[in-house]
Amino acid sequence: MVQYKATMVERITLPSRADRERALERAGYNVFNLDADDVFIDLLTDSGTGTMSNEQWAALIRGDESYAGSSSFARLEDAVSDVMGFPHVVPAHQGRGAENVLYGTLLGEGDVALNNTHFDTTRAHVANQGADPVDCPVPEAAEPGSAGDFKGNFSLENGWEVVEEVGADRIPVVIQTITNNSAAGQPVSVENTRRVAEFAAEIDATFVIDACRFAENAYFVTEREAEFVEASVTAVAREQLGYADALVMSGKKDGLSNIGGFVATDDPSLADACKQRTILYEGFPTYGGMTGRDMEALAVGLREAVEREYVSDRINQIRTLADLLEDRDVPVYTPTGGHAVYLDADACFPHLPAGEFPGQALVCELYREGGVRGVELGSFAFPDTDRPELVRLAVPRRTYHREHFEHVADTAAAVLERADSVTGLSIRSEPEIPELRHFSAELEPVSA
Ligand SMILES: *Cc1c(COP(=O)(O)O)cnc(C)c1O
Repeated sequence: MVQYKATMVERITLPSRADRERALERAGYNVFNLDADDVFIDLLTDSGTGTMSNEQWAALIRGDESYAGSSSFARLEDAVSDVMGFPHVVPAHQGRGAENVLYGTLLGEGDVALNNTHFDTTRAHVANQGADPVDCPVPEAAEPGSAGDFKGNFSLENGWEVVEEVGADRIPVVIQTITNNSAAGQPVSVENTRRVAEFAAEIDATFVIDACRFAENAYFVTEREAEFVEASVTAVAREQLGYADALVMSGKKDGLSNIGGFVATDDPSLADACKQRTILYEGFPTYGGMTGRDMEALAVGLREAVEREYVSDRINQIRTLADLLEDRDVPVYTPTGGHAVYLDADACFPHLPAGEFPGQALVCELYREGGVRGVELGSFAFPDTDRPELVRLAVPRRTYHREHFEHVADTAAAVLERADSVTGLSIRSEPEIPELRHFSAELEPVSA
């Protein structure tokens, strides 16, 4: 049972089919180019798009906008220390700002960073330092439908192979992303975190946890890892994060806020080095690109994220959406992860070759059919990589209800019913940086 009620609402409307057709054409068959007002159910991302609580709104009013020594920053530090267990906090405007601060401090030209799977902004920031981002996922992560409680884990076998290949000296940083966002939001076990921490210590690397979804991960651990079935979400979060030397965090995820982020560490000299870089790129180290009120909302959000009532409802929402889709025979990635349901576009449109972007075709059809906006994470978003053609339906926190999810599932089922007649897409124009293609490229239907 949901443990909250709505006391503020926002109107949404489903544009007519003719208007949706026109909007899609105007957007160049890229849903990033749609006006949000033209979208009925927006599952593009769960990043900063959730609903804040009354406590968070109340805290906003208390925002101390002092340039230096803001009391709002002190409250954020207290929350990070209480919830995550780290005494030093270096604020940033959002997660990628924190990544720039931390990886710019730790990495240089020719280095290698290991990660269970680099999230796209992490990969870009590692590469931006002249370092090489290498993924070490467990093999089952890439297989939609394979069984496994912790398909987000870091493969130590992979990690040691890279050490043999390039030498430990070239690997100053080992990262673990929890949950593993780029691997369908699959969770990571505490046991795996312990072993990765040992591995990092053995090769004398700094062990970083990308903690964006630490609370969702902790909830999965309480369900699936025998040692922790009696434990609270709070206790698991503290235990798991406690193995890291440093954290990078986006407040837009498990900070339950619309903006914000930070680096946290228990190493005072690393914190000092990061503070210098935050002054350069983000702002003075007692605000780092956030307003005082942003920091207040984030401080409250971090504490709410580890309440079992909140996070069990969150995970159950994702499961509800997946169940409704599966009831209608829509092919989904299983088991479902922490923040989104992933549709298997290859299975939806077996007649479309990879070159015609079956995932993007599915994204466009979901919008055309029901005003639903998802995002492609297959060969359109990741050119030249061999990935399954997935479409992500990310669920904003505390925002939609079962009726909305029923509409999404009915929409997907209606698309599947006419799957044979769906045509592929080709790229009409694209930006210069291939890694950023899916944000702004324009497409057109492949003529029959
Ligand atoms: C969202 C995210 C980031 C980047 O955070 P932003 O706030 O979007 O800049 C980094 N790592 C992971 C795993 C994320 O999910």
